[in-house]
Amino acid sequence: MSKSGAVLVLSGPSGAGKSSLLNEIIDDIGACYFSISTTTRPIRKGEKDGVHYHFADEEEFKQDIEDNNFLEYALVHGNYYGTSIKPVREALNEGKLVLFDIDVQGNTAVNNRLGDITTSVFITPPTLSELKKRLEGRSTDSQEVMDARLKMAKREIQRVSEYDYLIINDDLQRAAAILRQIAITARMKTSSNEVNDFVQKWEDIEQ
Ligand code: 5GP
Repeated sequence: MSKSGAVLVLSGPSGAGKSSLLNEIIDDIGACYFSISTTTRPIRKGEKDGVHYHFADEEEFKQDIEDNNFLEYALVHGNYYGTSIKPVREALNEGKLVLFDIDVQGNTAVNNRLGDITTSVFITPPTLSELKKRLEGRSTDSQEVMDARLKMAKREIQRVSEYDYLIINDDLQRAAAILRQIAITARMKTSSNEVNDFVQKWEDIEQ
């Protein structure tokens, strides 16, 4: 039976260390596709269009909504973010593990549509004060944006129970070891279609 792909959702506040964790494990978890979202937020220093995000204006984004191009989309910090459906479908058909870095609204939407092949992980620094320290250290955002992110993080942490796993990223290597195991296991999740096919083929004799 050829296995089609699976989905791993990663959520957590900016500053939780999601990208660093992914970099640590990416070579150890088999064929994957990291979904590049489309966003209307301004490009940050050091970011590249088509690598970190597809940057679009609001008109383009709304056209994509109208054309049903998104698996899910959400308004986060006043900007639109969305996941294009086409590359995700292709990657799943190729048997890849599709990785998403999306917020809690996105996790709900992905679970509604692809719940039987989705594993979700919430990643966070150990405390709000530690998150604040990390965001200040990064200094890519204005004070206003940083305050909004902290407020958002306080709201998001209330919904951790919606996730399969919680990873507290206080030690990068320790957190990476946990995420590595989760990612490897996520791939083994069997879709309901695969289960139905299997059950049909399993009954290979008249009994
Ligand atoms: P940032 O602006 O720091 O790159 O991302 C802000 C938030 O938007 C993060 O919580 C990130 O997970 C979320 N996000 C990024 N892309 C998407 C997306 O396609 N859909 C949803 N729902 N959230 C996203």
